[in-house]
Formats: sequence, C-alpha cells, structure tokens
Amino acid sequence: MRPWALCILVALSASAFNVNSHAAVSDDTQASLLALQRDDQRVADTGWRIASRNTDNCPKIWGALGISLQHVSQYAPAYRAAAKAAFGLDDSYPSILAVAKGSPASASGLKPNDRLRAINGVDLAGNSRGQTSVASYDAVSAAMAALEALPEKSAAVLSIERGGQRLEVSVTPKNVCRSRVELAPGNAINANANGLVAQISGRLVNWVQSEDELALVIAHEMAHNLLDHPKRLNEKSALSGLATSLGLSGRAQRQMEMDADRMGIIMAASAGYDYKIAPDFWARLNSNAPLAAFLATTHPKTRARRENAKRVVDELNAKDLNR
Ligand SMILES: [Zn+2]
Repeated sequence: MRPWALCILVALSASAFNVNSHAAVSDDTQASLLALQRDDQRVADTGWRIASRNTDNCPKIWGALGISLQHVSQYAPAYRAAAKAAFGLDDSYPSILAVAKGSPASASGLKPNDRLRAINGVDLAGNSRGQTSVASYDAVSAAMAALEALPEKSAAVLSIERGGQRLEVSVTPKNVCRSRVELAPGNAINANANGLVAQISGRLVNWVQSEDELALVIAHEMAHNLLDHPKRLNEKSALSGLATSLGLSGRAQRQMEMDADRMGIIMAASAGYDYKIAPDFWARLNSNAPLAAFLATTHPKTRARRENAKRVVDELNAKDLNR
C-alpha cells in the first residue's frame, strides 16, 4: 500500500486508496472499463498540459514521456477477464493506458493499449508478479519507475506490441514538473498526493463542471507533491504520534492547503486555464455538504480558502495588466 498522506478533501483513511487505478470497478462490463479509460485520458491530458507549461514554477523537474500504464495484476481477480477483453492485456506485460495530448509519446505515435514489452532492450515481463490473488500496483509502479529513470533528453527505444506486430519506437523524454497524475477508482469526491503521484477520483473527475475546474484540482495535488507536503506531514505525524497528529498539525496542514491552492492557481494560469474561477470553485468544493464535517480539522474554512484564492487571482490579474 502506498503511504498516501494528503488529500484535497478528507484526511486520508488508511483504506482510501490502497488499491489503485481501475482496481475496483462498479461492474465488469467492458463499457464501464472503457469509460474509466476515457477519464484516465482526460486526467493525463490535463496533467500533462499543466506539468509541461510550468517548468519555470516547479521546484522539481523530471524527464517524462507522457505515458500512463496499466497491468492486469492491478485489477481484482474478478475483473481481470473483462480487463483483458477491453484492453487486450496479457499476464506479463504492462500496456499503455493513456498517451497525453502534446507529449513526446503522442508525437512518436504511441497509442493506448500498446503493450510495452521492453525499454531500451530491458524486458519488462520480470516486473510482473504473475497471478497475484489481490489487486497489486507493483508491476505498473515498476514499469513507470523504469520510464521515469530514463536519461533526460536522450532518445529511448520502447519495444511495443500492437495488433500482433512488434514495433520499436524511439521517444525522447521532455522536462516537466515532477509528479505522476492518475485516476483513482472510488465513489468519493476526493483527490490526494503522496509525494510522487497525484490521484484524482473518478467521481471528482465527473463532478467538476469544466476542464478549468479539473485543472485546478490536478494542479493543487501536483503542488502538494512539488512542495514536499506529504513528506513534511509524515514527519510531523511521526513526531507527534498518529492519534494526535491531526490535532497538532491541523494548523500546519491548513497552511499547506492554502499554499497548494496558491501554487495550483498559478500553475493552472500558466497552462492557459481560466484561473479566475478559482475562488468560487474552491469555496464550492470546500462546502460540499457530505464532506464539510471531515474538512473542519485539516482544511481551511471556506471563507479563508476563498479569500486566499482571490488574493492569488488578484495578483495574477495585476501581472496581466502590467505585462
Ligand atoms: Zn490539498
């Protein structure tokens, strides 16, 4: 299980995201799986646009291709047959889940459902844990880590299987802000960051009313990662003990939320999204009725959050005027 540490809405319960993208689906129809893949694509596109247009604002940069992966072992056993049928997955290799618009992977012609067999000649079947009895993200994580470890700005060769054909595709990583962005299953309106990955729940992706709102959510979670908030929060929890950590670190955590809102709005603006909606959006999300009670300890009050967002918007507006 990953040490999820921060989230946009509720302090993380231990079981919240112990399985990852697609591990649980509401039914086993291919239609529901393909709908999830469309949401994955949306998250990948928006995440890439933010990450690739904010290198000046990001304290952490890495080389990335704009690919997200999946592997059959991340599905609960009951869903594996449907996942294989929907995406052409096999038992050994990861497949491409989404190729972000505008990314090096997209320019190189890589496509969703391409099976990724090797990176620079290193076969990826060894990453597979075979038929795990529970959903496991390990195979995907290992393959993603191999992609993320590619040397910056030098071409890598991905060995692909597509429709029974083997292809060698050359693709060069591009420097972008350092954070994976992915869809998480689940019926809660939620998102979180663990230092490496920003996860947005499928429910939240469908709750937001525009791409501009989705961009604010994704940029906020990326900001948590870029500002090292999960690490700092874990250190605080370790110092104060888990039982008291929420109370003791509540103030620090509220400040982190304000800081992530601030950086997220700046990143959304730099990526060309409508940042002026931020004060109303964060107020609406913050006061979302079923969740408001959970927010009380760890998140700023709605009015403070709106005012914080408005200050950032005013600063950006002033910069625009002075340009
Ligand atoms: Zn947050």
